Amino acid sequence: MSTSPVKRIQSKQLPEPHPTPVNALDYPRFAGIPTFMRLPHIPDAKRLDVALMGVPYDGGTSYRPGARFGPRRIREQSALIRPYNPVLNVNPFECLRVADYGDLSVNPLSIEDTFRRITMELNVVLQESAIPMCVGGDHSILLPILRSIHKFHGPVALIQLDAHSDTWDEYWGIKYSHGTPVRRAIEEGLLAEPYILQVGLRGQAYNAQDLDYAREHKIDMVTAEEFHQHGLPLVDKKLKAFEGLKTYLSLDIDVVDPAFAPGTGTPQVGGLSSVQILGLVRALQGLNFVGCDLVEVSPQFDSAEITSLLAANLLFEQLCLFC
Ligand code: MN
Ligand code: MN
Repeated sequence: MSTSPVKRIQSKQLPEPHPTPVNALDYPRFAGIPTFMRLPHIPDAKRLDVALMGVPYDGGTSYRPGARFGPRRIREQSALIRPYNPVLNVNPFECLRVADYGDLSVNPLSIEDTFRRITMELNVVLQESAIPMCVGGDHSILLPILRSIHKFHGPVALIQLDAHSDTWDEYWGIKYSHGTPVRRAIEEGLLAEPYILQVGLRGQAYNAQDLDYAREHKIDMVTAEEFHQHGLPLVDKKLKAFEGLKTYLSLDIDVVDPAFAPGTGTPQVGGLSSVQILGLVRALQGLNFVGCDLVEVSPQFDSAEITSLLAANLLFEQLCLFC
């Protein structure tokens, strides 16, 4: 388990200025080719501190598909993001070199080949000391991301915001899907047990033993019910254990209630509001993140783009955590 004191990421010293979003006062927000937050498209990790990457793969979904269209729609909705975060008092584009790295190439007919492609491309990004921020895609992409993170950082802590634990063993005899990545990651030794925290879990199980695997591996959990009862102070208390640890952040949009985020593959009632998820992500400021993702946005099931809009804002809040 590698630990290091809480530190700010040092921006690369390069002769060229930081990439910045297109100024909406020069060129209106609804115009132009959509990129994440209207940043330039720079598929070159050497020039970046943070690479925003789309991972348009949804072959790991077990119920409603469509997350392959998440990155494209989130790019569109991120046109409304302005650069300064008044709550955290940061402008991530001043503090870091950030750009839209583009979409990774996936294989829509093979999950194994897709995993291989994701790990290969992330290795390139991490090799250049850039931080990967992946926009899914379904949650199966977490496993190849963590394989790459492990190669460069060793076992890392995990904070997972999700309605589901994703620690199933298999579905229909298949080991790789969006319901199994955390279990596979533990089996492969990619995570620094017991530093795994899941927040927002809820919904029915198949039986009372469903979460036995998670309990055996000492995964710490704050259920949605506990969150609604005790709020952020309960999470804050648990976050103390993560201070200084290299940590990966995974945000499954279904942690949010379907009233606020209907555009997702396995919606679950009783979740967090948009205000609560914004507060929860901001509460992670000060931790030592080595990468993050935002997954499971499925635009086909969205209503008035509210899920993609929320996702774009959460992506911005995640980005601010690196400043
Ligand atoms: Mn998930
Ligand atoms: Mn989920």
